[in-house]
Amino acid sequence: MARTFFVGGNFKMNPGSREQKQALVKLLNEAQLDPNTEVVIAPPSLYLLPLKETIRKEIQVSAQNCYFKESGAFTGEISPTQLADAGIPYVILGHSERRTLFHETSAVVAQKTVAALAAGLRVVLCVGETLKERETGETDKVVQEQLEAVVKQIKESDWSKIVIAYEPVWAIGTGKVATSAQAQETQAAVRAYLTKAVSQGVADATRIIYGGSVTAANCKELATQPDVDGFLVGGASLKPEFVDIVNAKN
Ligand code: PEP
Repeated sequence: MARTFFVGGNFKMNPGSREQKQALVKLLNEAQLDPNTEVVIAPPSLYLLPLKETIRKEIQVSAQNCYFKESGAFTGEISPTQLADAGIPYVILGHSERRTLFHETSAVVAQKTVAALAAGLRVVLCVGETLKERETGETDKVVQEQLEAVVKQIKESDWSKIVIAYEPVWAIGTGKVATSAQAQETQAAVRAYLTKAVSQGVADATRIIYGGSVTAANCKELATQPDVDGFLVGGASLKPEFVDIVNAKN
């Protein structure tokens, strides 16, 4: 089954200034991008609407997080309904920085996923193991537990709205990229898990992307792996090399 290659840029709490944001928009608007790659950029929520208006139409925008309630007394949060109303198509959920720094459990990530899907958003669902978990051979178990929290809460048809981002925690922002063999092995295990836990159809159709220190230098080899359907890119999404990563399949 042909799965559309997906490249997401997670800007995190960047860029730090309006000038940097404008330079990034100019770069992406003028770049030659593979028309067969789905490209989504996730700026801080303050920049979602201005970016949506200024970025070329081939590039979609995504929130980096949302809450699971529609509205109410939740200071500092943004709701899936608000994002959908603003025409934002995607939200990243379960990023390791949210899980670690903001103590989001897999149950909370699942609640957010359910709410985001109900509001009509698409979800980039992040999962991944710590270095200790990899070293003790627990990678597949940990990743499957993170997925299971969501599997139990949603319908089979909801999977068409989800992209799974396998992001080993030890590779995020560290410069220590997983080898293509490591990414392939874990992502094949994720697909096998989807076959067992959901259905063969969902396993075949769901994009499973890799994230963690992806750069222009390592993306092409990773992209040759059969179960690597794209990338979630942090640091390099703020640089000109993001264009090379979008074009990794060329
Ligand atoms: C990320 O934040 O999702 C990420 C993968 O970061 P980096 O590419 O910087 O490792």
